[in-house]
Amino acid sequence: MLHLSFEQTEIVKVSIMKKDIDNKLKSKNIKPTAMRELVLQVLTEQKTAISLPELEQKFEKADKATLYRTLKTFQENKLIHAIEDGSGSVKYALCQEACDCQPEDLHVHFLCTNCNQTFCLNDIPVPTINLPSSFSLESVNMVVKGICSNCKK
Ligand SMILES: [Zn+2]
Ligand SMILES: [Zn+2]
Ligand SMILES: [Zn+2]
Repeated sequence: MLHLSFEQTEIVKVSIMKKDIDNKLKSKNIKPTAMRELVLQVLTEQKTAISLPELEQKFEKADKATLYRTLKTFQENKLIHAIEDGSGSVKYALCQEACDCQPEDLHVHFLCTNCNQTFCLNDIPVPTINLPSSFSLESVNMVVKGICSNCKK
């Protein structure tokens, strides 16, 4: 009896998660598919940005082209953003709810030189860059390097 009710609770928990994932996809005008749900699930579980090789490893059994397409769709629909932190591979992180991936939405990234993790410093906007008048700004990639709070302990 006890065992049964435990299993039921687990099922409820999983379905709520799936509902959250689907709602998140729909809020960014992305049609939920099994692959998209899985990729978003993995991205949601990350506390720091995840690199493409790490993602490829997690989706070893899936078709690579499908994974790349999924990431491209997520990026185009402003669900995730790509980070070039100079570590050699592109990393991805979820966007904030209201993010439109415009220069005014951009935040500073922090690369820990000890654990190589990249953090989204969502509360720190990138400073305004005053470009010469004939230049127009499209994007800013600001990476601050140092030791993260986990490594400092
Ligand atoms: Zn964004
Ligand atoms: Zn660290
Ligand atoms: Zn970020």
